[in-house]
Amino acid sequence: MYKLSFFGLRLCLYLFRILKNSMRQEKKRINLAQITELKKDFESKAINTVCQGARCPNIGDCYKNKTATFMILGKYCTRRCGFCAIEKYDVEFVDASEPLRIAKAIRDLKLSYSVITSVTRDDLPDGGAKHFAKTINEIKTLLPSNKVEVLVPDFLGDTKSIDIVLGAKPDVFSHNLETVSILYDVVRKGANYERSLGVLKHAKSKGFRVKTGIMLGLGETKEQVFETIEDIKNINVDTLTIGQYLAPTLKNFSIVKEYTKEEFEMFKNFAISLKIKQVVSGRYIRSSYFAEANFKKF
Ligand code: SF4
Repeated sequence: MYKLSFFGLRLCLYLFRILKNSMRQEKKRINLAQITELKKDFESKAINTVCQGARCPNIGDCYKNKTATFMILGKYCTRRCGFCAIEKYDVEFVDASEPLRIAKAIRDLKLSYSVITSVTRDDLPDGGAKHFAKTINEIKTLLPSNKVEVLVPDFLGDTKSIDIVLGAKPDVFSHNLETVSILYDVVRKGANYERSLGVLKHAKSKGFRVKTGIMLGLGETKEQVFETIEDIKNINVDTLTIGQYLAPTLKNFSIVKEYTKEEFEMFKNFAISLKIKQVVSGRYIRSSYFAEANFKKF
C-alpha cells in the first residue's frame, strides 16, 4: 500500500514536471495552411523529411519558403536518442528508387541547394553510405549546379563508409555532435562523442568543408559547452550551429534549461574568439536552418 502511494506520488510529480516544461516551452506559431501544400506534395512522392519526422520548430518558415531537409533511408531509426521524435524500428527496406525521386523533388521545387540527411541505419553493413552517395550523384546528374550538403550519421566510425559518401563530393559534409560528451550516455545512447569528433576530423582531413551542430538545454553546464566548442575548434570544423533543445513530444527528454539571447551570443563570441570560421547561434538555430544562406555567407 505504502509502495503504491509512493509510486503514485512520483508519477504525479513526473507528469507535472513534463506538463510544466511543455507549457513553459515557447514554440513558434505554425501556419498549417502554409505547410499543408508541401506536406501533401512530399506524401504523394513518398518522400520523407526530417522537418516532419523530427517535428522541427522551423517547419513553418522552411515549408513556406519551399525548402526542406530530405531524409533518406526510410523513416525509422535504429537508435533511440532521447531528444529525437523520429520513430524507432530495428530494420527497414532500402528503397533503391529513392535517390532519383529525391533529385526529381529538388528539381520540382527549383532548389539550388539541397540538404540530405538520414535516419541512423546500424542494421546496414555500410550504414547507408552507398545510398547517400547515390543520392548525391543523382542530384548532381539531374541538376549539375545544385549544391549538396549532407548531414550524416556516425556510420559507427567506419571510415570506409565516410569515404564512400565523400567520394560523391558533397559541397558540405555535416555531422552533428548534438550535445556535450558527458550527456551522450543519457540522451544519445549508441553514439560516442569521440567517435563523432573522429567522423568530422576524417572528412576535414580529406579537404571537405565540415559543419557540426549542438543543442543546449539538455542539462549541460556552461563549462562543458565551452569545452565542446574547444574540441570542435581543435578539429578545424568550418561551421558551428548552436540552438536551443526543444522537446518535440511529451515522450522526449524535458528541457532542463532555456538559454537567453545573451547566452547564445556569449557562446558565439567564444567560438569566434577561437577562430571557428562561421558560427550561427540562437534559440531556433538548427544545422539545416537557412543552410543555403549560410553556405553563401561563408
Ligand atoms: S530547420 Fe531544417 S529540419 Fe527544420 S524545418 Fe527547416 S529545413 Fe527542416
